[in-house]
Amino acid sequence: MLDVVVVGAGPNGLTAAVELARRGFSVALFEARDTVGGGARTEELTLPGFRHDPCSAAHPLGINSPAFRALPLERYGLQWLHSDLAMAHPFPDGTAAVLSRSVAETAASFGPRDAGAYRRLVAPFLPKWDTLARDFMSLPLTALPRDPVTLARFGLVGLPPSTWLTRRFRDEPAKALFAGLVAHIMAPLSGFATGAIGLVFALAAHARGWPVARGGSQAISDALAGYLTDLGGSIHTDYEVKRLDDLPPARAYVFDTSPTALARIAGLGRFYDNYKYGAGVFKIDYALDGPVPWTAKEAHRATTVQIGADSAEIGAALRAASREGRAPERPFMITVQPGVVDPTRAPDGKQVFWAYAHVPNGWTGDLTDVIERQLERFAPGFRDRVLARAIAGPAELAARNANYVGGDIGSGAAAGLQLLLRPRLSLFPYSTPHPAVFICSSATPPGPGVHGMSGHNAAKAVWRRLRQAA
Ligand SMILES: Cc1cc2nc3c(=O)[nH]c(=O)nc-3n(C[C@H](O)[C@H](O)[C@H](O)COP(=O)(O)OP(=O)(O)OC[C@H]3O[C@@H](n4cnc5c(N)ncnc54)[C@H](O)[C@@H]3O)c2cc1C
Repeated sequence: MLDVVVVGAGPNGLTAAVELARRGFSVALFEARDTVGGGARTEELTLPGFRHDPCSAAHPLGINSPAFRALPLERYGLQWLHSDLAMAHPFPDGTAAVLSRSVAETAASFGPRDAGAYRRLVAPFLPKWDTLARDFMSLPLTALPRDPVTLARFGLVGLPPSTWLTRRFRDEPAKALFAGLVAHIMAPLSGFATGAIGLVFALAAHARGWPVARGGSQAISDALAGYLTDLGGSIHTDYEVKRLDDLPPARAYVFDTSPTALARIAGLGRFYDNYKYGAGVFKIDYALDGPVPWTAKEAHRATTVQIGADSAEIGAALRAASREGRAPERPFMITVQPGVVDPTRAPDGKQVFWAYAHVPNGWTGDLTDVIERQLERFAPGFRDRVLARAIAGPAELAARNANYVGGDIGSGAAAGLQLLLRPRLSLFPYSTPHPAVFICSSATPPGPGVHGMSGHNAAKAVWRRLRQAA
């Protein structure tokens, strides 16, 4: 009998499998798709030679992940590539706020009235970032905090809504950039603990940047899979698990799936019925005939570019998708242009580029024209560069990956207490009523993103249970 079976080869499933195999457990992993990776994959979605990341592309949480940093992923081919700026947030008038590795450069981009406030905001946390990241990403207390004082201080700043945190800024560059950071996990700007999200992304930029993976995000998944195989783990693709009986006998089963799918597969009844899914996204992958013609010069120096004219526009776009049940007229967008640092993604002189906007969960319309009109405000002539598009609304995203229920790429709303305590209000989020069944997807803390920390934390819960049983 195997020690552990993992279902789903996203970053969390792969990390859980690796952590358990490293500790000497026999592990087999089963994945529905024909390749490993889940939300960290790379495919030729448009034209030959154009290598797109259908999901994740920018990795502030990946490079800062305590779990990934403890694994020899570089030895298995992962190479992080950094642009000059971690992220740029251009405005329609051709100016831009930026997130740079340098606090001084970032603060200067916010203007003289907010530069000092920004420096004072990040100063207490930056020197302690590694410990803080570990403590924050291990909540709710899968490990005792190593620096409870800094964690508590971070809680005081981060637990209130982001709109409280941004009150310390007077001008739009800082306010809009922070609103955009919160929108990365589709949280409402006035939601509980949303200040922490903005702050984590900013600190991550100063500590290690927001890199892309050379060759595409698939390199992250391939590195995890290569290490797992070397540790003796087996990987079975094209294997959709519908019932526990589909799997070989094992002492523990770890699911990198949505709570809803897990309840169905493992017969957990209504255990996760209160779990809520959030807004969906509408995503376009572009093959371009050259770089995006941004008006703001800073946007040419960053792989990630946030699009939103001001904090009010960003807030309105989020409210439209998550509360008002309609698509935004002027969407907030996250865009990534890996070609700024990675020439392997497209033929000479060409570029891949992706943009996504938030829409209501399960929305069925076409946002292409709205997205491109919004892009044209910041990059006039964008449309003329388009060679091909691969368009994915909520239905296509959910078809590509069952975890994105209704197009919710966070696998669960990041609203209310569910932002921190997911998939239920429990101190044991990775356990289920079935003593041998665990969950490790981004529906568990610390939530969405390619960082593997949900898998890492879940693996701890599994090995503690297996050692108790031994
Ligand atoms: C458009 C988009 C853009 C994103 N951008 C970023 C970004 O830039 N940076 C970032 O850090 N994050 C980004 N994310 C989020 C990130 O991709 C996810 O948070 C992350 O992949 C979650 O990892 P996971 O392991 O929990 O689940 P997933 O990566 O979703 O993997 C789950 C895996 O389980 C498999 N599976 C599900 N059900 C079954 C079953 N019944 N049987 C077998 N296999 C099953 C799925 O096929 C999938 O491979 C983005 C996501 C999307 C969709």
